[in-house]
Amino acid sequence: MKPKIDIFMFIDAMGWEVIKGRGFLEDMLAYRRPAGMQFGYSSTAIPTILTGTPPIVHKHLSFYYYAPDKSPFKAFHLLGLGLLPEKIAAKWRLRHVLSKCVAKAYGFTGYFEMYAMSFKKIHYFDYIEKTDIFVPGGLSPTPNLADRLSDANVPYHISNWRLSEQENIDALLRDIEKEDISFAFLYTAAMDGLLHMVTKNGAKIPVKLDWYSSHIRKIADTAAKHYREISISVFSDHGMTSKSGVEDIMGLVEKLGFRFGKDYAAVYDSTMSRFWFLNDRAREELGDALTKMPRSRVLSEAEKIRYRINFADNMYGEAILLMDPGVQIEPCDMGLKALPGMHGFAPEHEDSYAAFLSTGKPSSEPNWVGDYFKIMTDSFASRKENPQ
Ligand SMILES: [Zn+2]
Repeated sequence: MKPKIDIFMFIDAMGWEVIKGRGFLEDMLAYRRPAGMQFGYSSTAIPTILTGTPPIVHKHLSFYYYAPDKSPFKAFHLLGLGLLPEKIAAKWRLRHVLSKCVAKAYGFTGYFEMYAMSFKKIHYFDYIEKTDIFVPGGLSPTPNLADRLSDANVPYHISNWRLSEQENIDALLRDIEKEDISFAFLYTAAMDGLLHMVTKNGAKIPVKLDWYSSHIRKIADTAAKHYREISISVFSDHGMTSKSGVEDIMGLVEKLGFRFGKDYAAVYDSTMSRFWFLNDRAREELGDALTKMPRSRVLSEAEKIRYRINFADNMYGEAILLMDPGVQIEPCDMGLKALPGMHGFAPEHEDSYAAFLSTGKPSSEPNWVGDYFKIMTDSFASRKENPQ
């Protein structure tokens, strides 16, 4: 029997509105509150959770950013992949295999997928998640959770994001039974994929929540046999907003007649498009045209500062066009068809809110997903008995 274990479980996209009224583990996780989303996607939320810092510090916002000089996709251009007919170039299987080849060639260990980015444009961009962000040094030079645990000599378990939810739960249960650890970060992501397809109102959502409930109870029961004191917290990175419409922003921009790669560059994520202006005329005229795009708005400087995405070098774009909640960009560089549910809209929208649930009151209030980091690190910083 060991003295104490703190277990933190991440459920991707388990938004405040997703669990609302569903009684999800209400008896066990009595402390419950919504937490503000980090503007962006899981690609920025997870680094924010793992470091407690905003995007301007850890540098992860979206996957693609304009960097033609250091693009790992330059070879695609040289090989003439941009000349492939779109029908073939769009094949997901081909893209997945090519993504694996690029990752292997460059030694990338992070989550790497090309998504639907056109082979005609991909060589203008670099990709941010090249390393495994969960392991020590994974978000270097910003220290992450694994760095802090290692520095404090805390025996810990952090899931392998490449494994299935069941495999990760089983791996955690084995470490609890061995009494090897006093801190755990359990990563699960299948809820996100399900919510994208069936939305928060889908009949499969309560079934999936029940599945999580039974496994969390099993983890708690197992931990109770091996540790005198247990804390369990379950949290998410964002919610899910049902599709209310689509806009072909890419098509509207292309109709304006500016030359891609000469006048401007753009990445079209599902809920925002990001623009780099390569000359003053494009900055003025295209910049002005963006303010007239339907069901969207160009983020103000004040909003960029508030969301802490005000990169001094405009790494993720000089202008960011954010779609109204529910309206997706179709087609976009992340996928050719909009999905029934999407996240990445304004953090203030009710469907964007993440959730933080815990067996007890945390050391500080989780107002924003980046606040989870302090709660997690406080759980072991105050411990006297850090052994080994
Ligand atoms: Zn998602």
